[in-house]
Amino acid sequence: MKDAIPLPAFRDNYLWVWHADGAAAVVDPGDAAVVRKWLDETGHRLTDILITHWHPDHIGGVAELVSATGARVLGPAAEQDRMPPLDTALADGDTIEVLGTRFEVLGVPGHTLGHIAYAADDCVFCGDTLFHIGCGRLFEGTPEQMHESLGRLAALPDDTTVYCTHEYTLANLAFALRVEPDNADLERIDAAARAARDADRPTLPTTIGEQKRANPFLRADDPAVAEAVSRATGERVQPGVPTFAALRALKDRG
Ligand code: ZN
Ligand code: FE
Repeated sequence: MKDAIPLPAFRDNYLWVWHADGAAAVVDPGDAAVVRKWLDETGHRLTDILITHWHPDHIGGVAELVSATGARVLGPAAEQDRMPPLDTALADGDTIEVLGTRFEVLGVPGHTLGHIAYAADDCVFCGDTLFHIGCGRLFEGTPEQMHESLGRLAALPDDTTVYCTHEYTLANLAFALRVEPDNADLERIDAAARAARDADRPTLPTTIGEQKRANPFLRADDPAVAEAVSRATGERVQPGVPTFAALRALKDRG
């Protein structure tokens, strides 16, 4: 399913919708009005709401959408006490079918502890776990958990379409280029992202292959990234979790 549509919401969220035969599904509807407007304009009927984690900008519109449309709600079992009632509570390894597409549920703790991603054979809805040239903040989990979660996403096929939920790309690129100033992949992506934003277009989706090539948070096992992080922080770190943790901490300091 490579044709999901990003509905911009708030400052920098995207609510991803897709449709088949007049029915539509939405991922992380933080704002009901944005989704209802799209449904009205296109004449689709909302049947499914998928949730990746409990943060308000991802669930704020769920209750209103359910009462307006009767859509079923699928979300993380581990966070169900922090969100509107789920019709289907999901955990790592579960499979679901939405509008004819089969998804495997991946447990990807780190940003929050119960965070899940929805992986089909050609796309993934990853919530606030993986961003274009970045990753989610560690509000609840440890660097070890997030490093492993990102590794699970990186194990998906390279041509997997990645639907991230925030337009953070330019800021992520500025940070990544600060750490690796001579990275030609980052420079190329930066030029494309600037052109997209200048034209008021999203920089998303991306692909797993592009992120594996360029996103430093997915390349923490690469000695060259460990070297770059060591240089940026003035403290020697080994590849793997220590490099990932130092990179995340450096980004958090701004
Ligand atoms: Zn979040
Ligand atoms: Fe978010």
